[in-house]
Amino acid sequence: MASTPAQVPPAALPGPLTVAALQGLIRERYFATDAARGTPATFMWFIEEVGELSTALANNAPGKSPTPEQRANLDEEFADVIAWLCTLANVNGVDLERALGKYTVKGVEGVKS
Ligand SMILES: [Mg+2]
Repeated sequence: MASTPAQVPPAALPGPLTVAALQGLIRERYFATDAARGTPATFMWFIEEVGELSTALANNAPGKSPTPEQRANLDEEFADVIAWLCTLANVNGVDLERALGKYTVKGVEGVKS
């Protein structure tokens, strides 16, 4: 993918890089375009990034000898997936930090232990 929200350096944020700050930054910069694209097309971008993450994970799997570029790409693809998930959440009015709150409470159904 040529240009993704994840390529914005964290230093562009006025404070710490939190889930809310990242989602807000992506909303601020891309919401008009993201809203016009809508959920179905945005979901396709998201899934494309998941596929790129899958390839990066395979390139860095145990027993492989990834190049420095392939190792750097692994970081990039994790960031791309989170960025596009933020975009999907923005388009659908989901506050990711609030939603993720369930993972901060022990014993909640559906939470991995
Ligand atoms: Mg990518």
